[in-house]
Amino acid sequence: MEEARQLVDVGQDAFGREAQLAEDAAVAWAAMRRGAEREGVRLLLLSGFRSIEGQAEIVQKKLSAGQPLEAILRVSAYPGFREHHTGRAIDLGSPTCAHFSEAFGATREFDWLSQRAPQFGFTLSYPRGNPQGVVFEPWHWCLWEKAGREP
Ligand SMILES: [Zn+2]
Repeated sequence: MEEARQLVDVGQDAFGREAQLAEDAAVAWAAMRRGAEREGVRLLLLSGFRSIEGQAEIVQKKLSAGQPLEAILRVSAYPGFREHHTGRAIDLGSPTCAHFSEAFGATREFDWLSQRAPQFGFTLSYPRGNPQGVVFEPWHWCLWEKAGREP
């Protein structure tokens, strides 16, 4: 999937940074967040669009800190292959647990997402035992490619 070109603002993320998503993902995220709120579930947006350059910087920083490349790629997929550059991936959190932690997989927010996110078009990209060999990421959800859509 290519880097997103058309991005729209979706407000601040949980860290107070202005977040952006591709337009269809922004619409789907807004609908999903409202749907969750109506059922008393508060989803926090941790990150949306990240440029390929930004992801490359993350890998470079970890390499500089002495982490072996193989270990880095298990948790930070190679730049450009981690879906955030498409503007269609979102990282979500709960007010009740540490951000980007496996503990998110045991929250009611995650339970809600597991049941309802597909109705809004989002799917969990890296479930336990995923074939890509990426660590379990309960927080990372990506809008499906629509059938017939050019990648
Ligand atoms: Zn993510």
